[in-house]
Amino acid sequence: MKYFSLQNKQHVVSFEDAVVQGLAPDKGLYFPEQIPSFEKDFFNKIEQHADLDIAYAAIKPFVGEEIPEEILRKIIADTLSFPFPLEKVKDNIYALELFHGPTLAFKDVGARFMAGCLGYFRRNDSRPVTVLVATSGDTGGAVAHGFYNVPGVRVVILYPSGKVSTLQEKQLTTLNGNITALEIQGTFDDCQRMVKTAFLDAELQAHCLLTSANSINVARWLPQMFYYLLAYKQLKSDIVFSVPSGNFGNICAGMMAAAMGLPVQHFVASTNINDTVPRFMHSGKYEPGQATPTISNAMDVADPSNFIRILELFANSLPALQQKLTSYSFTDKETVATMEEVWEKEHYMLDPHGAVGYLGLQKYLSYTKSAAGVFLETAHPVKFADTAPAALQEKIVTPERVQSLYSLDKKAVLLPNDYNALKTWLMQN
Ligand SMILES: *Cc1c(COP(=O)(O)O)cnc(C)c1O
Repeated sequence: MKYFSLQNKQHVVSFEDAVVQGLAPDKGLYFPEQIPSFEKDFFNKIEQHADLDIAYAAIKPFVGEEIPEEILRKIIADTLSFPFPLEKVKDNIYALELFHGPTLAFKDVGARFMAGCLGYFRRNDSRPVTVLVATSGDTGGAVAHGFYNVPGVRVVILYPSGKVSTLQEKQLTTLNGNITALEIQGTFDDCQRMVKTAFLDAELQAHCLLTSANSINVARWLPQMFYYLLAYKQLKSDIVFSVPSGNFGNICAGMMAAAMGLPVQHFVASTNINDTVPRFMHSGKYEPGQATPTISNAMDVADPSNFIRILELFANSLPALQQKLTSYSFTDKETVATMEEVWEKEHYMLDPHGAVGYLGLQKYLSYTKSAAGVFLETAHPVKFADTAPAALQEKIVTPERVQSLYSLDKKAVLLPNDYNALKTWLMQN
């Protein structure tokens, strides 16, 4: 498969180049030249296929011959080494739980798959590569765990001091090995600015080979198709999927799976009050503005980077897109009320992101008859326990596999909010 830049369709690269570069030199996102199709009866007999074979069938056309079958299968097995259960919440509403991976959020899948691909592509290169990434919380943990102990790769994560949750900070700062956490005395935006400056700094680039593990990377985006396929395998009906969305990478992967033949009745993109896409779906006007902080902070995005890929899937036709996608926005007040209500009535604990997904699903189903609705529960509630209502906080059960983290010592390098401090550190270490 070849990939073209969405800024310039003449600029075409291999899967390897798309993964290693992340973004095209013209700053465009990479997009596959063709949309592959599943074989006709694949979905009729999906329950006869093992999860790993389903994932292989989905991703293989995007990788082509660039990774040998045996190695690609191993990467997939490492990526899907934890379950993706579908839990019935009530009636025809199900939660697809994507938080059973090492860092308790769905980003583990994309990060692990990308780490496997990058590790393979760099196998004969003796020069170590530095993965430089800024995080507001979830991305850093997933990338750190995904790349932990990958030979020839070191990971440097910038996070804003005092602005990530307790558990998120432990996940970033306790692995050590090839992972270094830089605690920046600034905001997430400051961290992101420092990383962007580093990528433009020729002197630094001459000194160390830098790459990003940003969510726009095709190797982080495409494996997210697996969730939707595995949900279909468990339910075998025409599903309405509601996806809590920030950068719209996750939902875009679901829409790609549908374009390849997965039967999906409809998609609902559920957002917090950062409602650029819900407004666009109404007016056809894309007006991003500034991001507003909310309790579902992994979705505090005003200008979702992957939305351009969704438009491309529908040949930039708004009416065509409206046939398949509805988008709603919800306030923090509605989110908290839903977390409380679903706990009281159904005894199901939502995290704030899943709660936004649940709200979107419920709203859409109130207008339509549908066989089944699935919302994606993108993080474990303990990850965002700091902002949950007090009455719920004490009910949240911390999974055993992260309990030990709380007693580990944090190891981070404290740096001022100053690009030169980052540059000096990268040159010296
Ligand atoms: C990243 C994230 C999202 C948003 O996913 P996108 O692919 O950016 O739309 C939703 N929920 C959680 C918990 C996240 O970490």
